[in-house]
Amino acid sequence: MQIDPTQRRPLGAWLKWCGLLLSAWLLGGCAGPRIDSTTHRAVSHDSRAQFLILHYTAVDLESSIRILTQQRVSSHYLVTDEQPPRIYRLVDEDRRAWHAGISAWDGHAMLNGNSIGIEIVNLGNAPGPDGREAAFQPYPPEQVELIVELVRDIVKRHQIRPDRVLGHSDIAPQRKVDPGPLFPWKRLADEGLVLWPKQADVQQAQARYAAGVPPVQWFQQALAKHGFLVAQHGELDEPTRRVIAAFQMKYRQAKYDGQPDAETAALLTALTGLWHPAKAP
Ligand SMILES: [Zn+2]
Repeated sequence: MQIDPTQRRPLGAWLKWCGLLLSAWLLGGCAGPRIDSTTHRAVSHDSRAQFLILHYTAVDLESSIRILTQQRVSSHYLVTDEQPPRIYRLVDEDRRAWHAGISAWDGHAMLNGNSIGIEIVNLGNAPGPDGREAAFQPYPPEQVELIVELVRDIVKRHQIRPDRVLGHSDIAPQRKVDPGPLFPWKRLADEGLVLWPKQADVQQAQARYAAGVPPVQWFQQALAKHGFLVAQHGELDEPTRRVIAAFQMKYRQAKYDGQPDAETAALLTALTGLWHPAKAP
C-alpha cells in the first residue's frame, strides 16, 4: 500500500495536537462550574437600570464622539445633530457607562451604577467659536423626535419610572446644567415618560401662594421630597439657588433664576403633594 507521506503525522504534529486538546480541557475548566439556569427560575427581579439620565455634550459631533469613546467619560447612547440625526450605542446597556459622576437623587447616590445615560449633541450655553454669545441652543425637531423614540424604548424595556427620567442637572445641580432649559421635557411628559404636574393642581396652589411665598425652609423641604439633594438650613445660599434653578429649568423654563417664587412653590406642591403650611387646604 502506497502511503502518501503528507498524510503521515510526524511526532511534532501529534504533540501539537495533544497540546491543543490539553488547552481546550484547561480552558473548559476555567469557564467555571456547570450551572443549571433553566430548571428553577425566580419571579422577583427587575432591571439594574433604574434611572435614565439625559445630557447634552456641549461640543460638536466630532468632539463628542472622540471624548465619549476615547476619554474617561462615556454614555450608553449618543444622539447626533446630523440631518437626519442618528443614534450610536457606545456602551452596552448591561455595562456601566461613566456619565453621571458625583450624583444623587431620592436617596440614591452615584447613579452610574444603576442608570442608562443618553448624550445629545447640542452646544449648550457655551459661547460660539464665531463670537456667538453664550446662549442655550435649541434642540431641532427631528432630534427631539428621535430622543423621544429612544427614551420610550429604554423606559419600556427597563420599566423605568417617570420620576426617574432625569437630567444631569437634577442629579448634580451644583456642577451641571445640562440638558438645559430648552430641553423638551414637556414633550417627553406628554408621552407619559417624565413626571409632570397637573395644570389644575398648579393653578390651585399658585392662587394660594399668591398671598405669600413659602419660606426658604419649605422650598428646601419640598425640593428634597421631589428628589434633590439639598441642605435643610433655611438660607437662600448659592447651592440652594442652583437646586431651585435646576428645578425651574425643567418645569418652568421661561424663568430659571433660582429665585423661590409663588409659581415655583405651586409646581413643587403639585408634584410632591407638600403644602405650606404642611396640610391640604
Ligand atoms: Zn451631563
